[in-house]
Amino acid sequence: AKVKEVEFIKSSARARDCPVDDRPEFAILGRSNVGKSSLINSLVRRKEIALTSKKPGKTQLINHFLVNKSWYLVDLPGYGFAKAPEAAKMDWSSFTKGYFLNRSTLVGVLLLIDASVPPQKIDLDCANWLGRNKIPITFVFTKCDKMKVTKGKRPDENIRDFQEFIRENYKQHPAWIMTSSVSGVGRDELLLHMSQLRNY
Ligand code: GDP
Repeated sequence: AKVKEVEFIKSSARARDCPVDDRPEFAILGRSNVGKSSLINSLVRRKEIALTSKKPGKTQLINHFLVNKSWYLVDLPGYGFAKAPEAAKMDWSSFTKGYFLNRSTLVGVLLLIDASVPPQKIDLDCANWLGRNKIPITFVFTKCDKMKVTKGKRPDENIRDFQEFIRENYKQHPAWIMTSSVSGVGRDELLLHMSQLRNY
């Protein structure tokens, strides 16, 4: 499950502009600021690769990265940025939904959950939307290294709360992986998990 090479392929504005290909792919998704770029950079061990998606105007694009010439890691726009009341609801543009509903090579979604904050309803809404559309999810907790908290709970407590929240509200039994882009914990486990799903 080693990453030997990674190549940025393209940014697509619509699902139908994505690479036409039969290689398997994994989409990475989460609230804005969840640590998505950091995780992508840590997975592929390239400091800058996920910066592409941070350039102004590129944040609302679907970014395809080809790993080992054999599978894609797909960076999707984050959700829940607005500080408006609507922040509590899914603000996906129709193209993000279009991507999920039309991408037959999609093996699964890595749904990133920030372990340094309490469970967020919007993450559950996202999980439920994907679940209803039969898209397999792996919950990937980010920032698990953040042990110093000034207020609120520690990551392990937030993770436990979120898992409880999911068990009560979500019908399936998804996989969980704890990660930190700072310490590198969970990186190998996540790569191995993806390789197992690809060969399934
Ligand atoms: P994105 O908006 O989801 O792409 O998030 P970024 O990768 O840009 O990260 C958002 C913020 O969280 C930045 O200030 C990062 O330094 C911080 N961050 C990301 N991953 C981690 C992590 O694993 N541990 C800690 N402590 N901070 C992180």
